[in-house]
Amino acid sequence: MDAIQAEFDRLNNKSNLSKAVTDIDKCIALLENARNQIAQEPSSRGMTLARLQQSVNSQLEKVGGDHKEVYTALNRYGKALDKKFKAASAFSSSDYDALSNEGHLINRAIAMHLIREGQFTVASKFVQEAGDLDIPPELQDEFVEMYQILKAMKEQRDLDPAIAWARQKARQLEQRGSNLEFDLCKLQFVAMFVNGMDGRKHAMEYARREFGRFQDKHLKEVQMLMTAFLYTDNLQQSPYGRPFLEPEKTWEDVAHSFTKEFCSLLGLSAQSPLYLAATAGAIALPTLLKMTSIMKEKKTEWTSQNELPVEIPLPPSYHFHSIFVCPVSKDQTTEENPPMMLPCGHVIALESLQRLARSGSAPSLKCPYCPKESTLAQAKQVII
Ligand SMILES: [Zn+2]
Repeated sequence: MDAIQAEFDRLNNKSNLSKAVTDIDKCIALLENARNQIAQEPSSRGMTLARLQQSVNSQLEKVGGDHKEVYTALNRYGKALDKKFKAASAFSSSDYDALSNEGHLINRAIAMHLIREGQFTVASKFVQEAGDLDIPPELQDEFVEMYQILKAMKEQRDLDPAIAWARQKARQLEQRGSNLEFDLCKLQFVAMFVNGMDGRKHAMEYARREFGRFQDKHLKEVQMLMTAFLYTDNLQQSPYGRPFLEPEKTWEDVAHSFTKEFCSLLGLSAQSPLYLAATAGAIALPTLLKMTSIMKEKKTEWTSQNELPVEIPLPPSYHFHSIFVCPVSKDQTTEENPPMMLPCGHVIALESLQRLARSGSAPSLKCPYCPKESTLAQAKQVII
């Protein structure tokens, strides 16, 4: 990377670009001066213009020289980049063709990303120019609502819109096992409580009015919150004082879980898939480039579909679910070929199991890992 950095520094160097800018500024100043002079003394017009021509010419020559330097540096920078990333040419043109066939899907992913990031004007322009992307029009309205609620939360510290939303969606949230409504009300209570004497009075009223309905599920947490009234002046000493002492973090956490729940009710993940995929791709790129150059050297091909021949470690936040690799076929299980558990507790992929059933003395089949026998019907699908 050193060569690129050196060229970039040269390109960025003050002596190049800023010199060109200063020289152009000088040129403009000359012209402006001459204009003022002529305005003041119209009779001196001829002389001023003659002088102006000379100085402007010499100044423009300087600008030309400056530009030449910038262009040379730019050229060298481009060459350094090409040299460094020569491996990128290892991707064949058919790879690019395959990508452009998926153009529709990629455009859709970009449009979805823009909508969920709240870039609504850019998104609608993009959709308009990209043609029919099959994005339900009400989706944007949903995200507009989400950003309005988040804005109220973050900028005005107003939880009412979020609480109203959570109440409206209470049944769906309950089905998901989400505690969002309670978390929002809890934060409302905390925000009131830390707001002086009056605040504490309001918090008490709020708790009496709202917390009753959370008794079944969150009684213990409500009790913990209530102990704050015993520690009004020394919350640091309270074993349950944490929510009151780290308000910033609590606001952030609640905003995050609101976003997550909102997206999941729309059937979407909390983070933009395009962003995740692009970041994961950027992390994987050096390994992939190395792999393609090795494959080229050894004249081998990458044959396994939907699977990489090398392992690419991603940070833990990029692990979403566990994978299962069948110990018999060494294939990663899929929806069509799910992991199946035999009555003995050993797990293999469905296809391996079917093969086993065909080869053995039907209807019984023997587990490949222990002596126990069972039947195909006894195997149960494992949901990971
Ligand atoms: Zn077994």
